[in-house]
Amino acid sequence: MLQNAPAATSAEDEMLDQIVESVRALCARFPGEYWRKTDRERAYPTEFVEAMTEGGFLGVLIPEEYGGSGLSLSVAARILETVHSEGGNAGALHAQMYTMGTLLRHGTEAQKNEWLPRIATGEVRLQAFGVTEPTAGTDTTSLRTTARREGDEYVINGQKIWTSRAEHSDLMILLARTTPRDQVSKRSEGMSVFLVDMKKALGNGMEITPIRTMLNHATTSVYFDNLRIPADNLIGEEGRGFRYILDGMNAERILIAAECIGDADWFTKTATAYANERVVFGKPIGANQGVQFPIAQAYAQAQAARLMVYRAAAMFDAGQPCGPQANMAKLLAADASWKAGDTCLQTHGGFGFAEEYDVERKFRETRLYQVAPISTNLILSYLGEHVLGMPKSY
Ligand SMILES: Cc1cc2nc3c(=O)[nH]c(=O)nc-3n(C[C@H](O)[C@H](O)[C@H](O)COP(=O)(O)OP(=O)(O)OC[C@H]3O[C@@H](n4cnc5c(N)ncnc54)[C@H](O)[C@@H]3O)c2cc1C
Repeated sequence: MLQNAPAATSAEDEMLDQIVESVRALCARFPGEYWRKTDRERAYPTEFVEAMTEGGFLGVLIPEEYGGSGLSLSVAARILETVHSEGGNAGALHAQMYTMGTLLRHGTEAQKNEWLPRIATGEVRLQAFGVTEPTAGTDTTSLRTTARREGDEYVINGQKIWTSRAEHSDLMILLARTTPRDQVSKRSEGMSVFLVDMKKALGNGMEITPIRTMLNHATTSVYFDNLRIPADNLIGEEGRGFRYILDGMNAERILIAAECIGDADWFTKTATAYANERVVFGKPIGANQGVQFPIAQAYAQAQAARLMVYRAAAMFDAGQPCGPQANMAKLLAADASWKAGDTCLQTHGGFGFAEEYDVERKFRETRLYQVAPISTNLILSYLGEHVLGMPKSY
């Protein structure tokens, strides 16, 4: 419903329309029953991930010279938006699109040549991102996982939490402290980023424990006990890892915001259809303003958020600084999807709680965006401090 874009005006628009149509056709092969079953069993949607990989949709951000299609973030955002507006969930695969950005921007030519072509085809999955820790929470610079250099290796010790897709990934981007906090002048210094070969590490100093959550997200805790990795797996310069992780956050926020917009679209069209078809007191419930207006409100909110998402994406693609826009896109889109989800559930009355309508599943899924990958409060504090110039609130 939100995809009422103007008719294609250029070759690029036509290509984008074709991509969106291909994603829609692919999603039609994975209807509600598929998502309900994987959700019920907390199973990884392997078939869907394979189909998206074979369709070439996960390598769009990898430059052509490394085997990807070298397309823009705006295109990647449309792909993820479409998955969500068609009732699916891209959480199982979205990180394969963008986690490689750290490697692309800061890796050596040898590292990029070794991994990127295989990530582009999906032969190698780089979709685990180990940053959050149980004690540090959002205060990332307090993380306790350490990487100690010993000869031509690093020895890793510590624990990560909420490392999603770890059991379905060949590689992980790991942030660890290489210089103790009391020996650096700024808290953000002394952390480094590593590429961990998870298949080699599993059982040899690394263990993974799944965490069952209210949605099907394949998230885990990862434990490191003297895991040895080659020093060559350091990405970029030692000590500059926090900066490298921040570099990738705008892209992640914009892409996740696009998923929110897709959810908002699904909720709005699902609510509208039900409001037209459900008859109570002798007329469709949508004829009542108390039912109709919240749906119209959610629609308007999502349309406005969508403008910010694609504005941020366009700025990112043009190489312009887009921190405020990327953060506002995530904030507005997450609020829009939550408002639309709540409205859709309310419109369905009791049936909103029944599994077979998919509303309660999408409702649980879209709730995540108020917390991850960045919580709403932290975006507001970023805007208050860095955009509006008020004092640091924490
Ligand atoms: C399903 C799921 C998947 C995830 N996947 C990944 C992943 O793959 N990799 C990864 O590294 N992380 C992942 N995360 C972690 C996610 O990024 C964090 O949960 C999120 O950033 C919030 O951090 P926290 O849970 O530690 O909350 P905390 O930092 O403990 O904060 C708790 C609450 O307090 C609020 N709060 C904290 N500090 C302030 C402040 N100064 N001002 C105002 N409010 C504040 C927060 O907004 C939040 O609501 C995932 C989380 C979930 C739930």
